[in-house]
Amino acid sequence: MTLHPVSSTLIDDLRRLIPADRVSAARADREQHSRDQSAHPAHLPDAVVWVQSTAEVSAVLKYAAARRIPVTAWGAGTSIEGNPIPVQGGIVLNFRQMDKILEIHAHDFQVTVQPGVLYKDMNKILARHGLFFAPDPGANASIGGMLANNAAGIRTVKYGATRDNVLALEAVLADGTVIRTGSRSVKQSAGYDLTHLLVGSEGTLAIITAATLKLAPLPEHFSVATAAFPDVAHAAHAVFELIGAGLEPTALELLDTTAIRVMNTEDGINFPETPHLFMEFNGVNEDALTQTLALAGDICRENEAQQYQSGIGREARSRLWEARHRIFEVHLRYFPGKEYFVSDVSVPISNYPALAAAAEKMLAELEIDGSVLGHAGDGNLHVIGFYHADDAATRDKAFLLNKKLVEMALSLDGTSTGEHGVGLGKRKYMVAEHGASAMAVMRQIKTLFDPHGILNPGKVLNE
Ligand SMILES: Cc1cc2nc3c(=O)[nH]c(=O)nc-3n(C[C@H](O)[C@H](O)[C@H](O)COP(=O)(O)OP(=O)(O)OC[C@H]3O[C@@H](n4cnc5c(N)ncnc54)[C@H](O)[C@@H]3O)c2cc1C
Repeated sequence: MTLHPVSSTLIDDLRRLIPADRVSAARADREQHSRDQSAHPAHLPDAVVWVQSTAEVSAVLKYAAARRIPVTAWGAGTSIEGNPIPVQGGIVLNFRQMDKILEIHAHDFQVTVQPGVLYKDMNKILARHGLFFAPDPGANASIGGMLANNAAGIRTVKYGATRDNVLALEAVLADGTVIRTGSRSVKQSAGYDLTHLLVGSEGTLAIITAATLKLAPLPEHFSVATAAFPDVAHAAHAVFELIGAGLEPTALELLDTTAIRVMNTEDGINFPETPHLFMEFNGVNEDALTQTLALAGDICRENEAQQYQSGIGREARSRLWEARHRIFEVHLRYFPGKEYFVSDVSVPISNYPALAAAAEKMLAELEIDGSVLGHAGDGNLHVIGFYHADDAATRDKAFLLNKKLVEMALSLDGTSTGEHGVGLGKRKYMVAEHGASAMAVMRQIKTLFDPHGILNPGKVLNE
């Protein structure tokens, strides 16, 4: 779809809709909204607008739709697949000033929020009510960005991804119309499910302006366990058996030897340098928890774990998960001055051992610096790989690894992206994953929601 070049009056026009101090064409502001945390090339928007209300979002979209100007929503910019990069310029809508918790429905385990709230900040407030929002992507992402990417994280194995934890949305369509989807009922069977269609649509169908989310009670009895394995294949097989035994871990993470070596550079972390599983379990009481931990230990040892440690205290638990969350940044420090890629594929749990072993082999055979790690409990695997920007041969090998890993995941009945979304990097695999006919339906949906193609153009679909 052809979008019109932005007119020279854009900023003045926008300042008639939104107070002038919240509309910027300053180079620094545009640069800040030109790239996410991925290595995808930056692209400057023409203007950045900090919205404060649904009415403002609607006014900007009405204006942009009439002039065919691209509009890309911006949460916290922590995506790693190029999702919020405004590749066709236009207007970026920054949601950081729409960050209110609108209502906590504590008795229903729900919260209604504006999209700009950061989930870690939200969880601090919810903790006072004994509640938390479980999807946990590590980076301090916004709820809008998590909804749009269908983010997931270390707790997804028990609580599901963002999509599984949203009940209702308020959203603004490309022409400025405000719609409400879903309800606060946990059971809903009333017509087409627009809520879950918008989740994962990466801001290409509508802009989310409020969301009602499901919450979980903070667990009282929980414990972390760690297990060291001789190789990734044994660790991955233990994952399959831990899930199969019905132990219902609340977290189940795989880290290969390099990931552990990198993590060991953090203060207070010192694991044997072999592949590990990090697990967390909840129990209805201490006895149940003790039994679960013992059974998990048996399964790990049957899979040749050389070391199994459980009953780790609260402080060590926090340190462990914080270090796990920081692992991406720590990798960047460990491999300084290098370009990187982050693969994100997911397969059914029975195929996880094959995927993990293949990823480890590919890294070794292609001689790429990097790690294999992932939210193993939900079949999700990442490879973080590094190469010198001016070393074309290694860069090509890195891209090849990424491609081979996607192909392998698809051949194992999986997906090209478990949680990072399609963004720019995964568009080329969409037909292979969904087939041409399903892609044609997706294109029709896009046209229905956004007839002029102004919403985050160039994402999800390959056009
Ligand atoms: C260190 C690190 C660790 C990470 N770990 C994980 C992980 O474990 N799991 C995981 O899933 N991801 C992870 N990520 C990726 C990232 O945090 C998630 O993709 C997250 O959902 C992005 O949220 P954001 O607020 O930064 O959104 P942004 O990056 O700003 O935007 C993401 C997408 O959402 C759209 N969008 C933003 N707001 C709205 C809105 N209001 N309405 C409609 N569309 C909107 C944007 O246009 C864009 O397409 C990690 C990233 C980093 C840097």
